[in-house]
Amino acid sequence: MPQLTRRRDPEAQQETWLIHYGDVRVGVIAERVGNPDSTPGWWACGFYPGAEPQEHARGLAGSFEAARAVFEAAWGVFLAKRTEADFEEYRRDRTFHVWKQAMWAKGLKLPTQAADGCSHCFCGAAIRTTDMDQHIYAMHMERISTSSIAASVTSIACRSLAANGK
Ligand SMILES: [Zn+2]
Repeated sequence: MPQLTRRRDPEAQQETWLIHYGDVRVGVIAERVGNPDSTPGWWACGFYPGAEPQEHARGLAGSFEAARAVFEAAWGVFLAKRTEADFEEYRRDRTFHVWKQAMWAKGLKLPTQAADGCSHCFCGAAIRTTDMDQHIYAMHMERISTSSIAASVTSIACRSLAANGK
């Protein structure tokens, strides 16, 4: 079973950690700056699709450690309701969006955009509305091993917002 890992969001101005479970991003823990009640951290847990938005959880916390603890508890509740099919639904959605962007970047139409429902994938294969999904998931779904991710990120444990010069 994958462990929760975290990596810094390079695009966020404030300290923001993206939380992953294997290859799926399952939440965020971040610093809040300039908020009137001076709560230093917030967190959110859940992914979509694969879970309904009302199953997601979020909240404020007094420190990174506190946010981590509440996040992990919320994640335990969320994970207990998940099946492998939920993760697969998320991965397929992610794959489809990456594929669609790649098609558009190359100026190619999706079969669903063509009047006759036929097009060509950027890999050269003829695709139709009826077999587009099958082609994408068979040929273009990235299989990321959990171990390669674990090697590239640090554990969620042991870091304090307060100890980071705040
Ligand atoms: Zn293709």
